[in-house]
Amino acid sequence: MYFPDMGEQCQVGEGREVRAVGWLDIAHPYTPGTVEPAFVEALRRHVKTAWAPVVAAGPHFCQFCPETRGGGVGASGNVWIPSERYLFVAPELVVHYITAHGYRPPDAFIEAVLTCPPQGSPEYFARLTPFQHAFPWIDEWPPPR
Ligand SMILES: [Zn+2]
Repeated sequence: MYFPDMGEQCQVGEGREVRAVGWLDIAHPYTPGTVEPAFVEALRRHVKTAWAPVVAAGPHFCQFCPETRGGGVGASGNVWIPSERYLFVAPELVVHYITAHGYRPPDAFIEAVLTCPPQGSPEYFARLTPFQHAFPWIDEWPPPR
């Protein structure tokens, strides 16, 4: 499912401060470029340990891999990366898009990932609190672990 980078909506959230990143689709060109290995490592760590306020309906499959028709690279998770200004939301596949297809996400996202506290930590929720309204279904804040 395609959403433009830095758009205010994606499959699992929308709002004035929400910024979609990495919701790629074969029908739309994406920004190519290289990124620092440290960024990829940090992003991978966030994705692996992602705090998930939403359970996705099903996996996304990479449309850029030729083997997709036979059931290729797929993932169903998402990751929320709060910065001071925006709440970035990316699909788990974003790591694959970067490492396998040379996708370069927006600089603001790269910065946010590098400075984001560990997922689920008190510091993480402190940074997420200004965007609490993006999760109206969560009654208790910060959410119990
Ligand atoms: Zn792929």
